Amino acid sequence: MSHTYLVIGEIRGGKLRQVTGELVQAAKLARRDNGDRIVAALLGWQLETFAGELARLGVDQVLVADRPELEHYNPDTYFPALSAIIEETTPHAVFFGHTAVGRDLAPQAAALLGAGQISDVVALKQDGGGLLFTRPLYAGKAFEKKRFLQGPIIATFRPNNIPAAEPADGGAAPITEATTPAPAGNASLRSIVKTVVRKAAGKVDLTEARIVVSGGRGVKSAEGFRPLEELAQVLNAAVGASRGACDAGYCDYALQIGQTGKVVTPELYIACGISGAIQHLAGMSQSRIIIAVNKDPEAPIFQIADYGIVGDLFEIVPLLTEELRQALA
Ligand SMILES: Cc1cc2nc3c(=O)[nH]c(=O)nc-3n(C[C@H](O)[C@H](O)[C@H](O)COP(=O)(O)OP(=O)(O)OC[C@H]3O[C@@H](n4cnc5c(N)ncnc54)[C@H](O)[C@@H]3O)c2cc1C
Repeated sequence: MSHTYLVIGEIRGGKLRQVTGELVQAAKLARRDNGDRIVAALLGWQLETFAGELARLGVDQVLVADRPELEHYNPDTYFPALSAIIEETTPHAVFFGHTAVGRDLAPQAAALLGAGQISDVVALKQDGGGLLFTRPLYAGKAFEKKRFLQGPIIATFRPNNIPAAEPADGGAAPITEATTPAPAGNASLRSIVKTVVRKAAGKVDLTEARIVVSGGRGVKSAEGFRPLEELAQVLNAAVGASRGACDAGYCDYALQIGQTGKVVTPELYIACGISGAIQHLAGMSQSRIIIAVNKDPEAPIFQIADYGIVGDLFEIVPLLTEELRQALA
């Protein structure tokens, strides 16, 4: 029997989120060679361009729920639309990003289908006729591998772990309006989102950035983040922070990385003036390459760093910035 893999795409900051392409790739890894289909769904408002982009990623169909009341995420409006899409596609698996939206919707979908859920998946492969999912445990100190004995499967995928699907040869998949229920009217909503104001969190999305330059209490002030911002600009990187830096008021909590902040998996993580507390490592230890700049040679961050520079960040970071500016020019 052929299966349908349903991918729930996301739009953020006027762009199709990179994790959407990663979910499509995950569905391609999950699909078997017997007529399995990949359906990508987008919920929102004025989706034409994003749906077109998604349709070129090698999916079989794009389903859109394109309605004004879906402009901002609200579980009261999104879940009925998602339920209708699930009913229409009867999926064997539904893949979400491990994002604020995905983490909110996935358990609701699991409850709807009476299905099991696996969260924060970092790898997926075919294994003996089934799918084997890998997810980190204990703040990244261990990994568990899980398989489902039966479908439907609900999974959320951590951004930046599976390479995103590239636009495929062979044109675009058909884009169809999903049959979603008519808006129930504001009276039935528990909340109404009128506008979304994003915190100043830099130009590059922290959770999807390829490079992150992070500052800790060692930056000593809000002004102390300036050299890190300059380095980030040269590398087209996102700026992050430890909770130490956030608690001290040097930067906004939107930048916090760690157990109680964001989880990032960039190709390169540059930690400046961060001691390497376990709660910070929980948010960045899966980064491909870690560089630490710290004036204390005993700082625990050096135990997980691939490259360590012992010294004053206010001397080293500007030097790095200048060298890289010239090298990348
Ligand atoms: C329940 C709980 C949840 C938590 N969640 C998080 C979380 O999500 N994220 C998080 O980050 N923390 C979290 N913490 C806090 C965590 O335990 C640490 O307190 C915090 O990470 C320390 O931040 P820091 O490394 O910036 O500061 P510090 O530990 O004070 O380290 C500062 C470092 O800067 C170095 N330094 C100082 N000056 C310079 C200089 N000029 N040049 C170079 N190096 C310099 C010092 O040698 C030191 O190693 C949590 C704690 C708890 C209890």
